[in-house]
Amino acid sequence: MKQTRRREQRFTGHPVSPGIGIGPVHEATEPDLVVSTKKLTAAEVAPELARLEEAVARSRHQLQKLKNRLAALPEDSQAEIAPMMDVYLHMLGPSRLLRGIKARMQEDLLCPEAAVHAEAEAQAEATLAQPGADRAGRNRRAEEVRELGRRMLRNLTRQPFRSFTALAQGSVLAAQDLRPADAALIQPSRFAGIITAEGGAEGHTAVMLRALGLPAVLGAAGVLDAASPGSLAIVDGDTGEIVLNPSKASLEAARKKLSALTRARRALARLQRLPAITKDGTPVELQANLELPFELALIAESGAHGIGLLRSEFMFMNRETAPDEDTQARIYQDIVEAMDGDPVTIRVLDWGSDKEVDALSRYLPEAPEANPALGLRGIRLLLRHPPLLETQLAAILRAAAHGPVRILLPMVSVAAEVQATREALTRVWRRLKRRKTITLPETLPPLGIMVETPAAALASPVLALHADFFAIGTNDLTMYTLAADRSLPAGMKLYDPLEPAVLRLIHLTASFAADAGIPVSLCGELAARPQATPLLVGLGIRQLSMHGNAVPLVKQAIRATSLRTCERLAGDALAAPSADAVRDILASAEP
Ligand code: PEP
Ligand code: MG
Repeated sequence: MKQTRRREQRFTGHPVSPGIGIGPVHEATEPDLVVSTKKLTAAEVAPELARLEEAVARSRHQLQKLKNRLAALPEDSQAEIAPMMDVYLHMLGPSRLLRGIKARMQEDLLCPEAAVHAEAEAQAEATLAQPGADRAGRNRRAEEVRELGRRMLRNLTRQPFRSFTALAQGSVLAAQDLRPADAALIQPSRFAGIITAEGGAEGHTAVMLRALGLPAVLGAAGVLDAASPGSLAIVDGDTGEIVLNPSKASLEAARKKLSALTRARRALARLQRLPAITKDGTPVELQANLELPFELALIAESGAHGIGLLRSEFMFMNRETAPDEDTQARIYQDIVEAMDGDPVTIRVLDWGSDKEVDALSRYLPEAPEANPALGLRGIRLLLRHPPLLETQLAAILRAAAHGPVRILLPMVSVAAEVQATREALTRVWRRLKRRKTITLPETLPPLGIMVETPAAALASPVLALHADFFAIGTNDLTMYTLAADRSLPAGMKLYDPLEPAVLRLIHLTASFAADAGIPVSLCGELAARPQATPLLVGLGIRQLSMHGNAVPLVKQAIRATSLRTCERLAGDALAAPSADAVRDILASAEP
């Protein structure tokens, strides 16, 4: 950071955490890491392995301490950060990373520093090179392994970590780059905002800053060169704009925006206790999606009534083998009990395609599929591996003795898949009944299906004869309807859940479900977009499931509209020529 003339300057980066921060800029610096490349003699290997173990133990201790500190953060922040700490701690156990590091020391005679650096880099590169659509996920996993490598290196070399404690209260924290572990050290109450010159919108750092609730803009190139220490900055976490040395007018505008935001947040908090009901009295049930058990606390605060989609994949991640029936039953039971009488919809494992689960790789087809998204995934794969499916069904049935549970099947395209699963469910039920020590619910829980293929939507009258409820998954339904992957270049704008073809399938499914008298919900990302809420209600949806954070905003959208408006909007949208036209229709109807 250097001294420059104090005139207003504007920079733009990635807006990763919303809100406005105003304060003096202070830079947090970190000494560079120096990595030794010394070769070991055979006699040095054993003592150097002991030194590595010591650094691993120190790293574990530090991370455990960081994890304990999370208790001081708001619950939703804990929910986002704790799983990442668990990933780090897992990698410091008997993991592929540590095995690789030790092999490089023993076989290539690398010193521990060089072995840690080389192995972490190799694993990060291998992760980045994996095929599949989930680029953001790969970047995150690569970032995690590099981050842990740096921590071990600092502990091996005893080089200091970054410290933020010296920075003045109310500062805008500036850094060239910020890693997730740095973000974990930040006390949110101490800072007005965060800016960095490097870094993207998709990594864990962004996730953590959002969780901390600090306005943040990452990757604003050139901002550090222009800022002098202590100069005033405005950080706009909604637009990604940073204003250095703001003029009087800019400062006034930012303060106005800040107080409007504060008022809006308070209004949303008040909404928690109010019902989700349109102005003319149509109730809409709002539920939460749960991806990690830590999100339970957030769900409780969100005002959601139950879990509309529990993605059970998390239980199979970061482990070498699939969890057994007892382990799964305990996890489901904890969640069911925490929901205290509100329903929990547990989706059986949805894996294959872009969802990679290490513990299950041996079940995947040996030869890579030409089109994994059209291949063995979801219920197709589970039906091929009855022990896996039946273990999960057994665990769910046991949890269902402790509160209302529904079972949901992913990626259904034909009725035979539902019939086969129901047969498996009945088999498991009978088997559990014979085990006298197991408590079961009085009746079998409802068995429903995700409607996320055009086939399922079009065949919904037939599927309604076999399924007890529908959950429309617009993420996949959009992809399969438009034959467009989410990773298509943004310029092509093909993947869009507001495309009228997708809306027609939603409408069709909701209408057939109503005719058949079975419940239908919608649980894709579209459910979390308040601008689309009136449209979905107009298409016949009365139950929405979304990330807990979105519940208050969606509730606000419901309370601001009427069923008449919703139905008019839906009629116009279904007749619209394009997703852009639908967006215009929605924008013109905003209150
Ligand atoms: C969907 O496809 O809309 C959905 C909710 O499932 P997932 O995002 O887990 O594939
Ligand atoms: Mg899906």
